[in-house]
Amino acid sequence: MRCNSCNGEGLVRCRKCSGEGIDYGIHKCENCGGEGELACSTCEGTGKVRLLDKIKSKV
Ligand SMILES: [Zn+2]
Ligand SMILES: [Zn+2]
Repeated sequence: MRCNSCNGEGLVRCRKCSGEGIDYGIHKCENCGGEGELACSTCEGTGKVRLLDKIKSKV
């Protein structure tokens, strides 16, 4: 699925696809602003959060 926010161009600054150009449901970590801080428990230092994982962890 092409990212709607950047029209599939994969802009690095695009929050929705994190520069992938495709919306995999992987979004910038809101907790650390995509910085990928090692101490960040939300993204575990990757700076990206998969929507599915987010949902899973809630269940
Ligand atoms: Zn995008
Ligand atoms: Zn984070």
